[in-house]
Formats: sequence, structure tokens, C-alpha cells
Amino acid sequence: MRIAIYPGSFDPLTNGHLSIIQRALQIFDRLIVAVAVNPKKVPLFTVDERRSLIQDACQDPRVEVDAFQGLLVEYAKRRGVNVLLRGLRAVSDFEYEFQLANMNRKLAPGIETVFMMTGEDYFYLSSQLVREVASLGGDVSGLVPDNVHGKLVAKYAANGKP
Ligand code: ADP
Repeated sequence: MRIAIYPGSFDPLTNGHLSIIQRALQIFDRLIVAVAVNPKKVPLFTVDERRSLIQDACQDPRVEVDAFQGLLVEYAKRRGVNVLLRGLRAVSDFEYEFQLANMNRKLAPGIETVFMMTGEDYFYLSSQLVREVASLGGDVSGLVPDNVHGKLVAKYAANGKP
């Protein structure tokens, strides 16, 4: 059974993430989408909100949605998984991802990082950009799954921001 962990902030899930998840399922038998809990960052969506948005958007029995705190490689060891999946967009992602993968290999030599290229439509798509555009009232409906779109609109309406 080939299993990979796809870790990230997913704040929120975008169609770019979904494209990686769908294509990864052609390579892996199971995928654990793992929401990283970072106590130092104030996210837009809580961990539980992020988890349920991912769960609702990818209703595939091969996808498990989980959350973790602390070192990713320790989480992977706990789960008995030795493949980490990351997505690559523009060249600008490369340096950071390269550092991260090297550090993870130093920390846990038995765990490999696998990269998948983004779908070409999502080259410039990031959660941060989605949050910014949505907070200013811009239309992000083609960039995120419908459930995320609904939550974004509700969130910014509730915050009293345009
Ligand atoms: P992180 O804070 O860990 O970078 P993100 O949720 O921003 O969390 O991203 C999780 C993973 O998904 C990262 O590997 C990132 O490069 C990748 N990713 C994000 N957006 C896209 C996209 N549009 N296309 C492909 N991969 C993406």
C-alpha cells in the first residue's frame, strides 16, 4: 500500500491543492491530508474548519484528513508513513521547498519528499492571495471549491469587512 502525507496550512484549501490531491491519488493508494497547526500564526480558519472544508471538498475514501502539531517527520513516523508530498508552483517555491526537504531528510533519512507540479491553471494561486482578494470583496469562486467559497464570503461578511 503506497501512502503519502500531504501537509500544509490549507488556510483555506484551494483548487491548486485539490489538483495536487486528485493527481496524487493516481500514484498513491491513500493520501493523508495533514493540516499543520502552527501556534505562532493566526489563521483565518480554525484547524477544525480547515479540516472539515477539506473533508467536504474531497469525498474520496482514499483521502484521510488529519491535523498535526510539531515536527512533520515525527508525525510521519507516528503514522508509519515515509513519503511526504508537496506541491510546486512557480520557481519562487523551489528554494523554500528545497530547504525544507533537505532539513526533513537530515532529521529523518528514511522519509522522502515527493514533489508534484501544480496544474497550469493554478500556477499563481495561493491561499494567501485567495484570502486577500476575498477580504477585499473580489470574486474567488473559480479558485476555490464551492464550500470554501461559501465560507469565505460568510467569514468576511461576519467580520464586517467588505
Ligand atoms: P504551507 O504553509 O505548508 O506552504 P500551503 O497550504 O500554502 O501550506 O501549501 C501546502 C502545499 O501545497 C505546499 O507544498 C504548497 O507548495 C502546495 N500548494 C499551494 N498552492 C498550490 C497550487 N496552487 N498548486 C500546487 N501546489 C500548491
